Amino acid sequence: MSTIFSKIAAGEIPSYKVAADEKHYAFLDINPVAPGHVLVIPRKEVDYIFDLPEQDYLDLMAFARRVAKAQQKAIPCKRVGEAVIGLEVPHTHIHLIPINTEADMNFSKKVELTAEEMTRIASAIADKFE
Ligand code: AMP
Repeated sequence: MSTIFSKIAAGEIPSYKVAADEKHYAFLDINPVAPGHVLVIPRKEVDYIFDLPEQDYLDLMAFARRVAKAQQKAIPCKRVGEAVIGLEVPHTHIHLIPINTEADMNFSKKVELTAEEMTRIASAIADKFE
């Protein structure tokens, strides 16, 4: 069985790609709480982040750190906030959210962005990814 996020990482379902390597994939959250809200996933299908083998967990965090540094360069913000919820999609994912205030991490509040804005933001972050 393949999760929706595995299908996204495999390119079978479209996404606003931000970064990838052989073990990870990062893309814009389709329902962002702030502009530049990114999800980082391991390609390995594990539902709960704390069930990942330790090395996979550490590799995921290291990859997320690189993505956050790219967001910080591409999106005007004070910090990049990190959160793990995982109640909706049973495939480990880290939320990375450009924030200026604590209220920007509010998952009950979404921002409306056009497809053009999403494309532009994804490409701006991708350009800064190292
Ligand atoms: P949670 O599992 O509670 O951390 O939330 C799952 C997140 O995945 C939500 O923020 C959704 O907006 C996001 N999401 C669900 N489907 C997609 C998709 N096809 N592309 C991008 N983001 C998605």
